[in-house]
Amino acid sequence: MRAIEALSLALGTCTAQSSFIETAPWGFKSENSFLNCAAAFETTLTPHQLLDTTEKIERELGRTAKSTGGIYNDRIIDIDILLYGSETVDTERLTIPHPLMHLRDFVLEPLAEIAPNAQHPTTGKSIRELLEATKDTGGL
Ligand code: ADP
Ligand code: MG
Repeated sequence: MRAIEALSLALGTCTAQSSFIETAPWGFKSENSFLNCAAAFETTLTPHQLLDTTEKIERELGRTAKSTGGIYNDRIIDIDILLYGSETVDTERLTIPHPLMHLRDFVLEPLAEIAPNAQHPTTGKSIRELLEATKDTGGL
């Protein structure tokens, strides 16, 4: 909730926000579960400026560590950039669409609430279709 407020201040208008969906931790064991939410913003920032901004907000909200070497752990906040319109970005720091989003129920479910018909630029499928597919296979 505080992240959405901070993003709205830094980026511009929040045009849609999903409900918060609670999910069990993925990829590691923890007592704590996650609250996932997807939000859409109108912004004039470039993708890399957007990443600078989301990283700054993560730090301001008290995130201390990055996941290293694919090892995940509890964190207070994780802001991922899922889509940037229909653009693709592939640099060392930033990959858009987010490389695992099309496989993750906990990403697709909230995203489907706000943008079911958005097209995933690399698979060409809609968010709704991707969500159906992960449900069929059990997702990740
Ligand atoms: P994760 O989000 O996979 O749990 P982190 O939040 O620690 O892990 O991010 C690891 C790195 O992922 C960051 O240093 C960032 O540069 C990179 N990254 C690449 N693409 C994206 C994206 N679309 N959104 C957010 N971070 C990204
Ligand atoms: Mg992240």
